[in-house]
Amino acid sequence: MKSFVCALHSARVVFGAGVLAELPREIELLGASRVLVLSTPGHADLARRVVDILGDRTAEIFAGAAMHVPAAVAREAREAARNLGADCLVAIGGGSTTGLAKAIALESGLPILAIPTTYAGSEMTPIYGLTEAGEKRTGRDPRVLPRTVIYDPELTSTLPVGLSMTSGLNAIAHAAEGLYARDTNPLTELLAEEGLHAVACALPEIHRAPQDMRARSQALYGAWLCGIVLGNAGMALHHKLCHLLGGSFNLPHSETHAVVLPHAIAYNAPGIPDALESMARALGRPDPAAALYDLARAHGAPYSLRLLGLAEADIDKAAELAVANPYWNPEPIEPEGIRTLLRNAWEGRRPG
Ligand code: NAD
Repeated sequence: MKSFVCALHSARVVFGAGVLAELPREIELLGASRVLVLSTPGHADLARRVVDILGDRTAEIFAGAAMHVPAAVAREAREAARNLGADCLVAIGGGSTTGLAKAIALESGLPILAIPTTYAGSEMTPIYGLTEAGEKRTGRDPRVLPRTVIYDPELTSTLPVGLSMTSGLNAIAHAAEGLYARDTNPLTELLAEEGLHAVACALPEIHRAPQDMRARSQALYGAWLCGIVLGNAGMALHHKLCHLLGGSFNLPHSETHAVVLPHAIAYNAPGIPDALESMARALGRPDPAAALYDLARAHGAPYSLRLLGLAEADIDKAAELAVANPYWNPEPIEPEGIRTLLRNAWEGRRPG
């Protein structure tokens, strides 16, 4: 067995259909009494539901969360927290809302209670991101790791099928890259294989019956495990490519993950035999890159960067950016290979 270091950090997790009702107890356990509730504008109704559940506790809503945490929004939300004298942040929504809570906590150290409604996994990580002047800066800080996470699958029943597929593939991407991370360990490997398996099994069921609570629970359970992997293992080529395609070409987050993942796995395949074995077990197929492509395509997820709006002329630009700053990856980052990967992803070719 190879040597490893394992220091998992994770939140207190409350999981189950209907557990949103446990929120007052969880707030009490955090010792909080003045709560700022965060959501996107489209989820203000959910934020109001949270305030209703909190009863007489002081709670105010900031429903201005936006994709990639614009710095101006973060400033406004920090001010709202200060004005309220908040002692706790409740983030109800996807990665964008959790991201806003993290931006406030980064400065104030306020505890976060996250209630995720997508499969993005941000609630399990100490990773934050902030966008200023078109540039997204990310970092790690223990202060932004939520203290408590309430996973209530009932809240995901409204997640549109298309977004459910791409968000699930986003979760799978964390597990897949976690399996070949430089700092992988036996525990993250177990979590990654189980998380990948759970999400991959749930997606076809959700596609068939979006309200199926069993499938919704399985997907959210898998997303939890994949999120732990993201928070505890270093990511490589796939996440770097998605980060730059989102940041520099404005491509949508989970959709980009769905398209790029099979190609990143195919690129790395020669250097990751053990991870491929684990992915094959989780997916029930011997060819993980093709299996992930088929999973996306058979369930209506986008399968090409062209479909996402990337101009053909941007393939070369993206390839140049992808090789500009060196980072660890199981396979060497070769300019020609990266260009081919991006062209294949742009054309939507099936790997293998
Ligand atoms: P999102 O939070 O932007 O949500 C996408 C859309 O779906 C929004 O309009 C939202 O209101 C809506 N939505 C969310 N849940 C819903 C539900 N249950 N029903 C109906 N509509 C719903 O998308 P996301 O993919 O969850 O998060 C993406 C963001 O999170 C990106 O900025 C990404 O960089 C970040 N992220 C960060 C980390 C981290 O560890 N820091 C991890 C993953 C993602």
